[in-house]
Amino acid sequence: MNLAEALSSEFKTNYGPKCSTCVLIAGLDKDDAAALEAAFADGNFTSAAIGRALRAQGHSIHAAALMRHRKGECSK
Ligand SMILES: [Zn+2]
Repeated sequence: MNLAEALSSEFKTNYGPKCSTCVLIAGLDKDDAAALEAAFADGNFTSAAIGRALRAQGHSIHAAALMRHRKGECSK
């Protein structure tokens, strides 16, 4: 395998850990996902507050993961 092939197989198989916020949103029903997206877009909700609300609903998520996703820096 030459370097180009090695890089291309890394690219296909190694995306790193998936964003837990993206995974969470994918598992929510439509209304909950819309509510969460609205909260992300609303500057009055801190990521810590959103995290607390999600954990109160039984979701296991860290504010840091929410923040990364909110800033668009997550690995989709
Ligand atoms: Zn994400």
